[in-house]
Amino acid sequence: MSIRLYNTLTRRKEEFEPREPGKVAMYVCGPTVYNHIHIGNGRTFLTFDVIRRYLTWRGLEVRFIQNITDVDDKIINRANEEGLSAAQVAETYTAAFRKAMEDFGIQRPTVQPMATQMISPMIGMVERLIGNGHAYVVEGDVYFSVRSFPDYGKLSGHDIDDLLSGARVDIDERKRDPLDFALWKAAKPGEPHWSSPWGEGRPGWHLECSVMAEVELGVPFDIHGGGSDLIFPHHENEIAQSEAATGKPFAHYWLHGGMLQINAEKMSKSLGNFMLLRDVLAEYPASVVRLLMLQTHYRSPLDFSSDRLDEAVTAYERVLNLVRNMRWARTAEVGGDGASDVDRAALASALKEVRAKFVNEMDDDFNTAGAIGAVFELGRAGNAFVAENQSVLAAPDRELLLNAESLVTELLAVLGIDTVEAGRETSDLSPDVVELARQLAGYEGDDPAAAIHALTAARSVARAEKNWAAADAVRDGLALIGITVEDTPQGPRVNYRARG
Ligand code: AMP
Ligand code: ZN
Repeated sequence: MSIRLYNTLTRRKEEFEPREPGKVAMYVCGPTVYNHIHIGNGRTFLTFDVIRRYLTWRGLEVRFIQNITDVDDKIINRANEEGLSAAQVAETYTAAFRKAMEDFGIQRPTVQPMATQMISPMIGMVERLIGNGHAYVVEGDVYFSVRSFPDYGKLSGHDIDDLLSGARVDIDERKRDPLDFALWKAAKPGEPHWSSPWGEGRPGWHLECSVMAEVELGVPFDIHGGGSDLIFPHHENEIAQSEAATGKPFAHYWLHGGMLQINAEKMSKSLGNFMLLRDVLAEYPASVVRLLMLQTHYRSPLDFSSDRLDEAVTAYERVLNLVRNMRWARTAEVGGDGASDVDRAALASALKEVRAKFVNEMDDDFNTAGAIGAVFELGRAGNAFVAENQSVLAAPDRELLLNAESLVTELLAVLGIDTVEAGRETSDLSPDVVELARQLAGYEGDDPAAAIHALTAARSVARAEKNWAAADAVRDGLALIGITVEDTPQGPRVNYRARG
């Protein structure tokens, strides 16, 4: 089996062949740090976090580079508005970005270069481009000559002549062609600046990524990622600069994430229809937001709404309950002697099938929605197994449940969705459960699972003796601390209350 991914450059799914067997060199455009990031940005960063996690889980060694654009018009404007220096603005929002990524469970890049720390190789690339006729200097600015690069448009599918005829009218007379873009910008008074052969100035945005990728990964590298709004002009320009400078291909596979939208409109700072990632994460666990986003394929648009967030809360609770129930069943001291009437085959085969299905889905251009479906299937099989056999579970069944629970946890971790919460919640309940078992069931230990078992056993005895008051006392006591007992033909079944 091989991994297939959709390459924007060739417009088809291709088999992934890294330049060096077993290793992946990957670059993803990072944020411009002039504000807090919104959940649209968060979606794109999540997409590439999951791709990286998956490739790593598949045994590949991933070198993951993501830049921080810490010098840019937007940062300078923001600094002027707030009476701060551009560096102060960049520093504030770099820290905020890192915190939001950590809270969202995004793994840190292998290297996270800042644009301002790479000025000298950037000047080097501009010099190469002037030297080989792909760039020209005008009064301290340096422009890339789009006409000099015949492949211009190959990523976005744009034709240079169409682009030219559609170019906006506010044409800068100093450029040879309206499509030419700045590699280096002369500094205006009060702007951050660095010395260069063309005077004091600063790098253009497109240049940063070309240089940081080349310095950190070498060219050509394997995967270049970003949101689909970056295909043109940003990524087209990255390709033009890099390939014109080096004479080599820049990146083999171009992956682009679909836009997160609100009411069918792209979420963006300029439209003002954004929700900040940190605000959403203040209210919802990262795993809930990840689950919501990953239920849509990364290349499709994703409509975000509070209804969908609430649905994701419920879906996540279902995941946690599946895990809790399996955990409870395998740790509770329910009777059982390995009786032969336990049907283990269905769960055993679900275990095998689900792992294969998860890999199949993810190998197919990272179909996280299908992968999540597979995990749910396993959870359901585990739960059905518990429901049918809980009064007769014995050692081999517990082992099977342990394997099922571990697999659910392992696969969800590839998506960065954690099931630790399931354990945390049970352990939050522990003192209460143990205390209740002391009062109502004469329990003397301090193991919450055994305490729950003692309580359900005491309730069964009370029911058998038609002592309804005692039976109800157990049920009500458990309900108060968030545990419900359901009577099934196979005996009492315990559920942990969903948290809203
Ligand atoms: P920016 O700081 O604007 O360059 O954006 C950082 C990343 O977020 C880029 O990869 C963008 O493509 C991506 N992005 C911006 N808006 C959205 C959106 N509404 N949905 C998904 N990704 C987005
Ligand atoms: Zn970039």
